[in-house]
Amino acid sequence: MKNDFMFGIYCDGTDIQRKDTIKRMHEVGIEWIRTQIPGFPFKDPEKLEFTDNFLAFTKMIENLRANGFQILLITFFPSQVPESFGTSGSSRYYQNCENICRFLAQYFEKDVQYWKIANEMNLKMFRKPLTIDEAIRYLKVCGKGIKKGNPSAKICVNMADFDETALYMYKKLYCGKKVIFDYVGSNGYFGSWHPGGPHSWDTALEKLHKLTKKPIVIQEWGYSSKGDVMTEDERSTGVYPCKLKKWWYKWKDGHSEKEQAEYIVEAMNVFLSKQYVIGAFYFMWSDRERCWQCGLPDCPIETGWGLTDTKGNPKPSYYAYQSVIQSFKQVRGTF
Ligand SMILES: [Zn+2]
Repeated sequence: MKNDFMFGIYCDGTDIQRKDTIKRMHEVGIEWIRTQIPGFPFKDPEKLEFTDNFLAFTKMIENLRANGFQILLITFFPSQVPESFGTSGSSRYYQNCENICRFLAQYFEKDVQYWKIANEMNLKMFRKPLTIDEAIRYLKVCGKGIKKGNPSAKICVNMADFDETALYMYKKLYCGKKVIFDYVGSNGYFGSWHPGGPHSWDTALEKLHKLTKKPIVIQEWGYSSKGDVMTEDERSTGVYPCKLKKWWYKWKDGHSEKEQAEYIVEAMNVFLSKQYVIGAFYFMWSDRERCWQCGLPDCPIETGWGLTDTKGNPKPSYYAYQSVIQSFKQVRGTF
C-alpha cells in the first residue's frame, strides 16, 4: 500500500491565468504541477539578462507555490540554445548548457526539487539539431548542472514511448556505474499515438523498471476525447494524423469524453498498483482552441486531451481523475 503519490497535471500559463483554474485544480485533488521553462531564459549571453517570458514564468511559479502546489520543472530544449552560447555539439555549447542549468537550479532552489531534462529526446523534433549521441551528452551535462546548483534536486529524463532509440538512450543514461539520474520519466499515449489502452502501461512500466531500477514518474499520459480513427488502408499509408484529422488508434469505442473518463480510471489503477511508480502527470489540464502541431482549430489531434474544455469547464475526465484521487486519499486516511 502506497502512502504517497504525486498526483499531477501538465499545464502552462494559459491555464493558470484563467480565473478559477487554481480553485478547480484543488477541487480535483491535484498537488503537483509539471510545467516548462518558456524557452531559453536569457536574452544576452554577456549580460545574462532575463527574457520577459522568463520573468512572467517566475511569477507564475511563485503564484503556484503560494497556492500550495509542488512543481516539477522541465529545462530548455537543445533547439532553444542560442548560437551565441556555442555551436551545438561543441565543448563550449555543453559547458554553457551545464552552467545555465546550474544557475536555474540555484535560482529555483526554494521552489523546485524535481527536474526533468528537456523532453522526449528519442524523437528528432525534440532533440534537433543534436544527433542521438549528442543528445545523450546534453542530457548528462544538463543533469550535472542541476545537481551542482542544487545537490538535493531529483533529476530525470523521459522518452516518448519505448521505441528502439528510447531504449538505447535509457540504457546509456540509466545503466552502468555512473548514473546521475534519481528517477526515470516515461511518456505514453496508448490508444491515441500508439496501439493499446490503459493496460498497455502495465507491460511498459515493468520493462522500464527492470531496465533502470529507478522509481518512475509518468511524465505524460492521457487519452484524447475527440477525433475519428483512420481505416486500416489510411493508416497503412503512414499519413500523419493532422493531415486527415483522424487518429491512428483508438481504445474501446473510440475517442469520446466517456472513453476518456474510463481510460483515466483504468490507467491510474495500473499506476497506483505499482510500488515503484511514485507519481503521474496527466496531459493536460484543458482542451485547446488550436492543434499546436498543425495550427488548425478543427484538428482533433492536440485539442482534446483536457480535463476541462477550452473555457475551463469540467469534462467527465475531470470527475474521473477527482474520484481516483479522492478514493486514494480516503484509503490512505484510514491507515
Ligand atoms: Zn493537428
